[in-house]
Amino acid sequence: MERDGKLYFNGKVTCIRPTDIVHSAILTRGDRIVAVGKLQALQALATFPYEQIDLKGKRVLPGLIDTHAHFLDTGFSYTKLNLGAVKTIQELLTILSKEAEKYVPGEWITAVNFDENRLANPRFPTLAELDRAIPDHPVYINHRSYHSSVVNSLAIESSQLIFKAEEDAYGGAYLSKANNTNFKAWIAKQTKESDLEQAIAVASREAVKRGLTTIHCIEGGEYWGDAYAEFIHRADQDLLDLILYYNTDQIGKVIALDLPRMGGDLFIDGSVSGRSAAFMDEYDDQSDCFGELYMADGEVESLIEQAHQHHIQISFHVIGDRAIEQILLAYERVLNRYPKYDHRHRIEHFGFPSDAQIRKAKNLGLSIATQPAFVYLKGENYRTRLGEERLREAYPLRKLVDMGLRVGGGSDSLVTPMDPLLGIHAAVNAPYPTQRLTRVEAVELYTIRAAELAFKESEKGSLEAGKFADFVVLEQDLLEVPELEIKEVEVAMTIYHGHCVYQRKEEE
Ligand SMILES: [Zn+2]
Repeated sequence: MERDGKLYFNGKVTCIRPTDIVHSAILTRGDRIVAVGKLQALQALATFPYEQIDLKGKRVLPGLIDTHAHFLDTGFSYTKLNLGAVKTIQELLTILSKEAEKYVPGEWITAVNFDENRLANPRFPTLAELDRAIPDHPVYINHRSYHSSVVNSLAIESSQLIFKAEEDAYGGAYLSKANNTNFKAWIAKQTKESDLEQAIAVASREAVKRGLTTIHCIEGGEYWGDAYAEFIHRADQDLLDLILYYNTDQIGKVIALDLPRMGGDLFIDGSVSGRSAAFMDEYDDQSDCFGELYMADGEVESLIEQAHQHHIQISFHVIGDRAIEQILLAYERVLNRYPKYDHRHRIEHFGFPSDAQIRKAKNLGLSIATQPAFVYLKGENYRTRLGEERLREAYPLRKLVDMGLRVGGGSDSLVTPMDPLLGIHAAVNAPYPTQRLTRVEAVELYTIRAAELAFKESEKGSLEAGKFADFVVLEQDLLEVPELEIKEVEVAMTIYHGHCVYQRKEEE
């Protein structure tokens, strides 16, 4: 029988709080940390039977937290046909028709992670092309951004949905706006429970491989389907803690599940790559284009007010400075009417704030969920769309931390990989000084600061007596390797609530 107590010794244990002092050992019992300290002191403390585990000098950090991921879609990127590597339309059609051979006619072909920008000649497939290549199966292709999808004629017939005619060049295969969200919601409802179970199992296994023990799951609403949110809410969480941010604008659904939080990707604006993120100044590569605000001022304010009055933490997707202005004003109006200490309402992304906007967010007590890998991986796209000057000030992590904002790190998977070690690497190696953090600060972004974003800092985010025994043992020392090698660091072991949920296989 597995012993209740475990004594991990001979490690370099970075506790993060109350200080970043390094200890050599951790004693756990059941799902909790009993104490962190020197081996002998912990042996004296252990009045119960325990197993000893040699950490072999390795670095130990608190379990890592991703504050923004679309967990089921991340799972589907493994269990469904993943189009992430497709380079041409011909290749896309070949892959789809090969996939179709595996299924009897009439069965659905569902694919994810398509992005026309990755093609040598960027475009979507046409309806005629899809119908010709896959005549006997309904096909549904989800775009990586979630803002659009592609279907064939059989898919349209099967869904029996009424489509608004799209005025675009793709001959009817391409769905955006309401067509896209209606179709997505329909697909989510059709998704079998066993498919959801499989997706969550795979995503969980991938998450613990990268040291994650907690994920803030942004699920539900127009882009992901309420069925996903409800599923996460009732799913078993044996490998890690899935904290649901129900991304609906209907507060009744949040209250019905008795959730203390909602939103996550309630869209205030769009994306930089789609030129729909809302800016005060026009896009550099398209004059007269300022992006768009997706909601009216009153709508935003009313959503905040409803959540706030029900003591529900709310969060919005906000990228450009004009969108930031709108959300800050809405929060300000509601908070002036109903002041509340420590509400921690959130803003996701907060991509391009001015110094004045950062100060205002701080004064309003708002929390920021940031994604360091955005600038690191998509910086060139920002440069093209917005110019060097705005790129230099994009996602200014250094300023947020220096100005004392509560800010946590995340991936927005699938937008960037669900990999906190890549996130830490990106924060340390960001292209401009206003975006860079020290290693320990970057680790804090994915541990204690991330815990604070969901009011969980009393139970996780640092290695302290009484907190959950959630931690990660690293194969290479993240705090010592050359800065440019941080993202290559491997996880040796992930411990969640006192149990080993991942162990790296020793190489022969
Ligand atoms: Zn998102």
